[in-house]
Amino acid sequence: MPAPVSGLPPYDDTNIFARILRGEIPSRRVHEDEYAVAFHDINPLAPVHVLVIPRGRYVSIADFSASASDAEIAGFWRAVGRVARELGLEERGFRALTNMGSEGGQEVPHFHVHLFGGQRLGRMLPAAERTAPAAER
Ligand code: 5GP
Repeated sequence: MPAPVSGLPPYDDTNIFARILRGEIPSRRVHEDEYAVAFHDINPLAPVHVLVIPRGRYVSIADFSASASDAEIAGFWRAVGRVARELGLEERGFRALTNMGSEGGQEVPHFHVHLFGGQRLGRMLPAAERTAPAAER
């Protein structure tokens, strides 16, 4: 498993999703528009596991929410909803998740939202990983 990344700028143009956006690496795309591209995860963790990424150069949700334009933010999140709908995930439900930085377990330093579906997804985090908030430890 690759080492987690920091999730903070600067943006690294050699990251794997930048290369997928430039078409240098193949992906199984399910959607693309002006603001976002969506493709199947190479190592699916559920029957449906799709990644939605903005076209812009943002490292993580922290970077995206701070620095993207209103049009990019609206366009991206509309694409996330549209992809889930077009994959038929709305009726049974699905999970949208983004990892940020080291403790968030982010591996690829280009902002992305995971869409999981097609089965009951269980707890948000494995029960064994539940710990008290930092302030109570
Ligand atoms: P993160 O841990 O950064 O939130 O998730 C990165 C995701 O990218 C992982 O689920 C991993 O399987 C996926 N991934 C890594 N490399 C590739 C690739 O080359 N192609 C595709 N389609 N997915 C990838």
